[in-house]
Amino acid sequence: MNPILTALIVSSALLSWGANAAAPATAILLNGTVVTPNTVIQNGWVAIDNGKIVSVTAAKPKIAAAHTLETRDIIFPGFIDLHDHPLYNVYPRWTPPQAYHNRYEWRSADSYMAAIANPHRAVAAPNFCDMDRFVELKGLIGGTTTTLGISQPRDTDISCIAGLARNLDWFTGFYGTTVGQERVQSVLGVQPDDVKYAPAGLADALKKGDVDMLAIHIAEGQRSDDKTKKEFAELERLGWLTAHTAIIHGVALTRADFAKVHAAGAALIWSPRSNMELYKETANVADAAAENVTIAIAPDWSPTGSTNMLAELKFANKVNDSQFKSVFSAKQLVEMATSVPAKVARIDDKVGAVKPGLYADLFLLRGNAATPYDALVNASPDDVTLTLVGGVAVSGQLNYLTALGITKTEQTTLCKAQVAINSAAAGGSLADAKTRLGKALTDNGVALGPMVECD
Ligand SMILES: [Zn+2]
Repeated sequence: MNPILTALIVSSALLSWGANAAAPATAILLNGTVVTPNTVIQNGWVAIDNGKIVSVTAAKPKIAAAHTLETRDIIFPGFIDLHDHPLYNVYPRWTPPQAYHNRYEWRSADSYMAAIANPHRAVAAPNFCDMDRFVELKGLIGGTTTTLGISQPRDTDISCIAGLARNLDWFTGFYGTTVGQERVQSVLGVQPDDVKYAPAGLADALKKGDVDMLAIHIAEGQRSDDKTKKEFAELERLGWLTAHTAIIHGVALTRADFAKVHAAGAALIWSPRSNMELYKETANVADAAAENVTIAIAPDWSPTGSTNMLAELKFANKVNDSQFKSVFSAKQLVEMATSVPAKVARIDDKVGAVKPGLYADLFLLRGNAATPYDALVNASPDDVTLTLVGGVAVSGQLNYLTALGITKTEQTTLCKAQVAINSAAAGGSLADAKTRLGKALTDNGVALGPMVECD
């Protein structure tokens, strides 16, 4: 179904999700302010067993032999990042020397080639596993538990992608134990050079629901730019505007276009920071909201977007206030980064909420529990105190990991706080990966970018 995946080179035919991060044998009880789909439970409890949430209650459940973590933190569902180019998150911020008309303009600009494209060509294949570990942890320390968009460097074994965060296009652990069973398709765009790499029969596959989600860049550029303006009509012409389509960016979409997006049941993925950096404009999400379009938030990538979902949510909150008259509440913004992308990717029966029956993909946040959504949209990198994927504590405060029975950890500094990484889940040392990666990048004229950007 996914021709990109058929090209996958794996070192072993069977890859268990548990290879790096087996669900703990002992149940977990998390205490804190629990943000559920319908209500916020102050001083509530989340019980986790065998990787899944088994109960969400106000009273402490009676479970014998559980690791118990009592906190004053806020418990959120993990972020679901539907638009990223994670391998590029190893690079430092690239400051565009000008505002560009469209994405095709900067992608061939000398400044971009020197800062990112040329080094990437040399570095990606030989350093894939170090890059993957670095970028997935960069998301996880900010609460991102599901992502997509890692591209396979040519002739490269990428089986190390299994573990850490869920990769919607390679391996989520939702559909068995082998890589390549995923139901999400990425196509770069609708320009001829992009369309030629799209799988044959995509329109039919979308219509039949054989593909859960098509993520595709559309109208990424300035509203006045001719090339950018024509892309939405081209998406329609190709038969790719469907209930399974997620339009990335949509900067040049008009209100009439958004009416068509809604009528088709398609969604918009909004990446405001990258849009503002590259084009000085972003999608008119107020118009999109007025047409009841489903909107998700995602960071695009570190060079011109945000370092991770947490940072992009903060940026989106500011743009929501400064450009869109606060059309979205803090609660809506948080949902646009959690439950909404889960629905768009058709994985809301698995993740995206703190709800019994779903996988325990969660994070804890230090902040004012009386206003949990405001706390999250204004949070700083140091505020995430724990991230779990499938009930496995991957990163967080050392004392939290210790309370959950994690014995082998590695600490790294974020802004002021230290975060501990679960070494077994990481499948190796982050510091070693950083050293090797730093050298490979320096040899190619660039530095390793930061894990976080501090205020
Ligand atoms: Zn993109």
